[in-house]
Parts: sequence; C-alpha cells; structure tokens
Amino acid sequence: MESTLQLEIVTPDKVVVSQPVDYVGVPGIEGEFGVLPHHVPLLSALAIGDLYFRADGKTEHVFVSGGFAEVSDNKLTVLAESAERGESIDVARAQAAKERAEARLAAQQADIDAMRAQLALQRAVERLHVASLAQ
Ligand code: ATP
Repeated sequence: MESTLQLEIVTPDKVVVSQPVDYVGVPGIEGEFGVLPHHVPLLSALAIGDLYFRADGKTEHVFVSGGFAEVSDNKLTVLAESAERGESIDVARAQAAKERAEARLAAQQADIDAMRAQLALQRAVERLHVASLAQ
C-alpha cells in the first residue's frame, strides 16, 4: 500500500499544488479535518482559511477560499476560487484589503455590502495568518 496520497489544489487560474503528501489538514466549513492516505471518500465545502500539508518531513501552508474538497481513490482534490501558498502571499496587499474592508464595515453600509466586506475581511485576516505561518 502506498504511504502517501496525491494532493491537488486547483483554482480557475492555476494549479497551486500537485504532489504526493503524507497528511493534509483541511479547513472544512464545519471545522478542520485531517486526511491521511487511503481516506474514505468525502466531499466537503471549504471555509476561508489555512490548509496545511506534510510532505518530506516539512509542513506547508496554503490559503484557500471559496470551494470544496473531495477525497476519492487516494487523491484529495481542492477546487477553490482562490488559493495561494503561504510564501507567495503578498502581505502588503492583504494588509491593504484588511484596512479597506474595516473601513467599509465602519461606514455601516447596506447589509449586502457589509456581508461582502465581512468576507473580504476574513480573507485578508486569514491571508496574513497563513503568510505568518509560512515564515
Ligand atoms: P484584493 O481585494 O486584494 O483583490 P480579495 O480577497 O478580494 O483581495 P480574491 O478575490 O480572493 O482577492 O482573489 C483574487 C485573485 O488575487 C486570486 O487569484 C488570488 O489568488 C489573488 N490574491 C488576492 N490577494 C492576494 C494576496 N494578498 N497575495 C497574493 N495573491 C492574492
């Protein structure tokens, strides 16, 4: 039996990760869950947050937002609206996005705008978090 599983993280723009890994921690909509090789089939929506994986004795962090994870045939496929490896996150951009979202929330616009700003804020905060973990 193989001791790894294949991890694929894909966005509409690019393949972010495609490699065999030992373990994946996935930010599911109902909380984090772990995926080891030969996991049972599974489908889960993703939260905005940190997906991490272990391979060759190292842990890597990837920001993911808006999508789902599927496990089948010893492969974990993550389809996300956006995903970036921790080291490729632009910290200044995330900081600026955070400040923009905070300003919008403080301005108390209509509900729908507040919801969008809330989600933008979550993405920015999680990007900053994942970038700090990747250092
Ligand atoms: P911004 O307001 O800065 O665009 P956002 O949260 O609205 O942030 P998304 O809609 O999640 O951005 O992503 C749009 C594209 O920009 C995606 O390809 C995503 O990977 C990329 N992206 C967004 N923010 C960053 C960042 N801080 N570092 C690297 N790539 C980023």
